[in-house]
Amino acid sequence: KPALRLILGDQLNHFHSWWKEDPKSFTVLIVESKDEATYVTHHIQKVIAFFLAMRNFAEWLESKDFDVKYVALNDKKNAGSIADNVRAELKTDRYTAFHYLLPDEYRLDESLKKLADSIELPVETFDTEHFYTSRTDVAEMFEGKKTFLMESFYQKMRKKHGILMDGDSPEGGKWNYDKQNRKSLPKEHKVVDAKRFKRDVSELVDLLKAEKIETIGRIDPKNFLWPVTRSEGLAMLRFFIDECLSNFGDYQDAMKRDEWSMYHSRLSFCMNAKLLNPKEVINRVEEAYHNDKKKYNLPAVEGFIRQILGWREYMRGIYWAKMPDYAGLNYFDHKRKLPSWFWDGKTKMNCLSQAVGQSLDYSYAHHIQRLMITGNFALLAGINPDEVDAWYLGIYIDAIEWVEITNTRGMSQFADGGIVGTKPYVSSANYIDKMSDYCSGCHYDKKKKVGEKACPFNSLYWDFYHRHRQKLQNNPRLGFVYPTLDKMDKGKVEEILLQAHAYLENIDEL
Ligand code: FAD
Ligand code: SF4
Repeated sequence: KPALRLILGDQLNHFHSWWKEDPKSFTVLIVESKDEATYVTHHIQKVIAFFLAMRNFAEWLESKDFDVKYVALNDKKNAGSIADNVRAELKTDRYTAFHYLLPDEYRLDESLKKLADSIELPVETFDTEHFYTSRTDVAEMFEGKKTFLMESFYQKMRKKHGILMDGDSPEGGKWNYDKQNRKSLPKEHKVVDAKRFKRDVSELVDLLKAEKIETIGRIDPKNFLWPVTRSEGLAMLRFFIDECLSNFGDYQDAMKRDEWSMYHSRLSFCMNAKLLNPKEVINRVEEAYHNDKKKYNLPAVEGFIRQILGWREYMRGIYWAKMPDYAGLNYFDHKRKLPSWFWDGKTKMNCLSQAVGQSLDYSYAHHIQRLMITGNFALLAGINPDEVDAWYLGIYIDAIEWVEITNTRGMSQFADGGIVGTKPYVSSANYIDKMSDYCSGCHYDKKKKVGEKACPFNSLYWDFYHRHRQKLQNNPRLGFVYPTLDKMDKGKVEEILLQAHAYLENIDEL
């Protein structure tokens, strides 16, 4: 009798050592679970990307002679949750053991542990063989320390894995070139056209409708553009290296009207689903740089590698060090509901209309839009982090809790009080105007703090610092804020706060 081996939708690793074993020794179970499709309201493109990637992966396994039990969403035998589907399959008495790969999500980890405790067959867990680090490496590295510094983790990773190293020193003499990676886009600059795949997914769109899966966002069923196979992921990586990498650094934080992906790689879905391995992404980028130093520049290459070798691994480590408590943290005690326009993009604020609009269109926004447009607004407006998390977890194609919550609740909302970031990421219109061309087409006036058409960011910014003085005034990274606020004319501050409160009272109308 074979063992039953479960593969989750984000465990599509073609190079896992399981696939080197005798195909007759186990059966693979893959489930399109209704529970997974609805534990939060996902973007329609996200659900479809995962189901497509799972279907393609199952086909690949079958082509390698593995025995695959694929439970489709509308399969009469589909029991709903992953655990219930495993239970149902084990009831057939065909198996000697149950094996699963360690999930990346706390929720599924708990559910599979519970399942394992409840069955009589021997159960074994295996690593997904995807990340550079284990679940506990970050926690162990920072044991006893109050703050977990990404930069020191990242430097250790560079040394340990010999990435961008010149002997014992960092290539080029510096570990981090972030300061060089903050240019705004010159006016005449033409951004490269985003690479799109083209697939007719009408059948899956109909399936979701028939099964009454509630989703958000828009889709063109005849032109699904995301990569969902390993070879498409590799083509996307090739495109990134050839067409985007040399500009990635300079314009990493830049935003432009109607340019939805700029020079970003859009590899997060393929990596998070494990179709691409972070090591191969980093190795290919590093190799391209070493082979052609005229075309590529170190700040771009280092900046890109830091996101994956540094931030991505570090966020996962924080997640496992701090869950489940992390999901309930609300340092500022923020309680407001998310404005209605987060769900339809209908706001007069051009920056938000662009960032939310493209998220609805493509299930994607790049990092600085997530952090400094939508996240910035949510934090300034005091939105409940539970609501903010649910929105981010639902809307983005790459959103899986381990990397979503640490970025949203942690980096963006500072709801963890400073575990991930050392200060809240907030700004007034000044920063948004510097990094984008959004303000020039906006209903609001970027220069005004109060009065008609004053940009909401300008008053909300000071209102945020004013109401959280107790919690923030001793933050060493915010040294400039309170002296500036205290030097401002008292009457003027009053006016700004009144303006902010008026905006907050009518937040849905902004
Ligand atoms: P690129 O800019 O091309 O970067 C390359 C890769 O680096 C990404 O694919 C990603 O794997 C990694 N990376 C970059 N920044 C981060 C980061 N801060 N944390 C972890 N990995 C990073 N990323 C997700 O994968 N899933 C999420 O749900 C998610 N939610 C986010 C929520 C907020 C509020 C913020 C501020 C960031 C979030 N990020 C998330 C991180 C980052 O914004 C995305 O990884 C990135 O935008 C994905 O697009 P890309 O592949 O084009 O990235
Ligand atoms: Fe956004 Fe204000 Fe600029 Fe309008 S003026 S785009 S609301 S920052």
